Amino acid sequence: MGEGRGREAGGGAEREPELESEPAVAVEAVMSVQVVSAAAAAKVPEVELKDLSPSEAEPQLGLSTAAVSAMAPPAGGGDPEAPAPAAERPPAPGPGSGPAAALSPAAGKVPQASAMKRSDPHHQHQRHRDGGEALVSPDGTVTEAPRTVKKQIQFADQKQEFNKRPTKIGRRSLSRSISQSSTDSYSSAASYTDSSDDETSPRDKQQKNSKGSSDFCVKNIKQAEFGRREIEIAEQEMPALMALRKRAQGEKPLAGAKIVGCTHITAQTAVLMETLGALGAQCRWAACNIYSTLNEVAAALAESGFPVFAWKGESEDDFWWCIDRCVNVEGWQPNMILDDGGDLTHWIYKKYPNMFKKIKGIVEESVTGVHRLYQLSKAGKLCVPAMNVNDSVTKQKFDNLYCCRESILDGLKRTTDMMFGGKQVVVCGYGEVGKGCCAALKAMGSIVYVTEIDPICALQACMDGFRLVKLNEVIRQVDIVITCTGNKNVVTREHLDRMKNSCIVCNMGHSNTEIDVLYFSLGKWLKQSMLSSALRAALIELQHYQASLRTPELTWERVRSQVDHVIWPDGKRIVLLAEGRLLNLSCSTVPTFVLSITATTQALALIELYNAPEGRYKQDVYLLPKKMDEYVASLHLPTFDAHLTELTDEQAKYLGLNKNGPFKPNYYRY
Ligand code: NAD
Repeated sequence: MGEGRGREAGGGAEREPELESEPAVAVEAVMSVQVVSAAAAAKVPEVELKDLSPSEAEPQLGLSTAAVSAMAPPAGGGDPEAPAPAAERPPAPGPGSGPAAALSPAAGKVPQASAMKRSDPHHQHQRHRDGGEALVSPDGTVTEAPRTVKKQIQFADQKQEFNKRPTKIGRRSLSRSISQSSTDSYSSAASYTDSSDDETSPRDKQQKNSKGSSDFCVKNIKQAEFGRREIEIAEQEMPALMALRKRAQGEKPLAGAKIVGCTHITAQTAVLMETLGALGAQCRWAACNIYSTLNEVAAALAESGFPVFAWKGESEDDFWWCIDRCVNVEGWQPNMILDDGGDLTHWIYKKYPNMFKKIKGIVEESVTGVHRLYQLSKAGKLCVPAMNVNDSVTKQKFDNLYCCRESILDGLKRTTDMMFGGKQVVVCGYGEVGKGCCAALKAMGSIVYVTEIDPICALQACMDGFRLVKLNEVIRQVDIVITCTGNKNVVTREHLDRMKNSCIVCNMGHSNTEIDVLYFSLGKWLKQSMLSSALRAALIELQHYQASLRTPELTWERVRSQVDHVIWPDGKRIVLLAEGRLLNLSCSTVPTFVLSITATTQALALIELYNAPEGRYKQDVYLLPKKMDEYVASLHLPTFDAHLTELTDEQAKYLGLNKNGPFKPNYYRY
């Protein structure tokens, strides 16, 4: 796990930044930095341990070593009896304002995961993600499939490269990004305060927050109070960000930072933005997806003084207008970019290239955005350092293994109300996602079969107690088929023909190619295109005939949102979920804790890039130093009252490690 795209992309020698001093967030005197540059690729990097003098080692973040020690679980396990402090919610800081979070004596600890469970069904909507695809027309123009509306970027002279879809390997780690995923989720991302009756475009409204500022554009500022509640709920499951706010203790590692962001605007993002504000940054924000904005959360942020330009259901024109309002401001110029999907980065490249003179770095979250950055870097056009947070080990583990372990059940339950005990399930692919799915289903009492092409993963499946089979061997008897391979045509029409009545078929892999169902939105795109109606109709017809499940003899019946019955002439029905797109991201939610890992990684990457001394990072794409990855994990440990063992001096010497990490070489497979 955790291989960065750079490593996979091939070419070049591994290059490390010149680390004559401690990374901004690094906390110890010995530093090993895991850096994968675009030029680097292919090779597994060697670990390099550099001894830095204590003075060099002083963190620039303002998170002093002492503060980190206070935060980290104490050696020997600390005092497990110590009462956990009550959850404290610092008032939401405005941009550039401090956290004003008074520190209790136990400030080093974070609130325990809250007893506040998400009983509120409305709370679910905001964590949906999706996975759309771009359509490439014959002239090379990339058009977003209409389901996502969001555009793929086209860099003028890189059209071809940017039109290429990421490689299979490159797509391994799914970004939690709607920007490169379908909009399946948006249907369920309805805002409970949504005033759909209000047809006026937010662009045409005159709105002010309670402090008189009108530097924002949201659906309805009056929804701020509802949004604040959502943010407070999210804070409970985002312990690391809350800890970062406290630990900054008045020091502002992001003082002077002017961050322009383009991400999903959800309660979790709000917690991130308010943390960045608490750490000293000024932020301006737009949404990276036209459907994913929680209007009430956007309102709450605007009310707190954040210039937010986003609402649910933006038009495409609105989308770019919002981004432009974030960057094209008199008297304010961004010096950091936080992007999810690459559109913001693209906009600045296209419209305001001179801005890059002042920009210190880009932090990119999504697979697609990272891919674009590597392409830019390869073409020698990346003009600032960029951090690929998508491939951080901690984030990946949470996205792939742990998130899927939970959300597979959620997705199946919500769509089918099924009982898992005793059901026969075949899971195709025993990688990280497959392992998560298998573990969850096994725990529920299902009988789980696994298919694999890789003997190592296959052997792992056997060791874990699963029957390794070929799909053909069990296809007639299974109740559920789940694909998790990242591959194509894993489940073919032939398999589908042989399935028993009511068999449930779904996909947990990145793209909708795993089950042989054609990407239906091509039809929608064609309908909207400028082609003549006759040609459009012919193409739509053609694609239906090419698709294995969209053939005339099969009847499709939509029985629920995201649930189709595909009916064979003899009456047999297959239950197809989310039209073969990612089940969990289409039909369930991503836990806030998973997003907490991502958001913390993003925050640390911003701090690192912003504070890094000149020359540490070049105009290239980097992975977060491993030590900071470990730090992200450590910030989440107190939630579980987990007690980390500390190496003794003797043990550290024996293992050749610094007592404070990094604890593993870069090639370590977690
Ligand atoms: P992985 O590479 O670790 O695992 C995929 C496995 O599938 C590999 O072991 C591979 O050998 C196996 N495989 C490939 N072709 C196969 C075939 N025809 N039959 C059987 N097995 C086959 O990747 P991963 O991290 O497990 O991710 C798998 C997919 O899930 C990717 O597309 C990834 O983008 C996506 N993903 C989804 C989510 C989600 O929330 N649903 C999260 C992360 C990743």
